[in-house]
Amino acid sequence: MATEQSYIMIKPDGVQRGLVGEVIKRFEQRGYTLKGLKLMNVPKDLAEKHYQDLSARPFFPALVDYICSGPVVAMVWEGKGVVATGRKMIGATNPLASEPGTIRGDFAIEVGRNVIHGSDSVESAQREISLWFPEGVAEWTPAAKPWIYE
Ligand code: UDP
Ligand code: MG
Repeated sequence: MATEQSYIMIKPDGVQRGLVGEVIKRFEQRGYTLKGLKLMNVPKDLAEKHYQDLSARPFFPALVDYICSGPVVAMVWEGKGVVATGRKMIGATNPLASEPGTIRGDFAIEVGRNVIHGSDSVESAQREISLWFPEGVAEWTPAAKPWIYE
């Protein structure tokens, strides 16, 4: 089984709107394994580091304020292809361009309130997981693994 991991984060609007269970349900039901999970308020410097590649963009200050505006649910999900498949499950950055059936396509309208983050590459995922989970994640093997992977 691949040990690929993705950093998935329910943003403050997703938490405030009661979408935590819905998001977790979708990743669980797909067959991915939850390896890390915490509800946390985000210090400004952590939000800035997380989005450091976007620091020159005009929306950066508003983006940092948004991420720091309430608690987020920080998660690590593991499984075959979880980075690319997680992005597909999340949908396009602009929710109006997200397909129905995706998380953003089902639950969001504006790019600045798009409910959820997912790593865009395996390398980004590794960077983001070490940033958000410096303490490490849980080690476990789901009993259902042979029923999900051949
Ligand atoms: N964002 C924004 N305005 C934009 C583009 C992005 O507010 O014009 C926000 C949005 O919340 C997005 C985040 O910045 O999710 C990170 O942008 P990125 O291009 O990495 O999109 P993502 O990977 O989240 O789909
Ligand atoms: Mg991104």
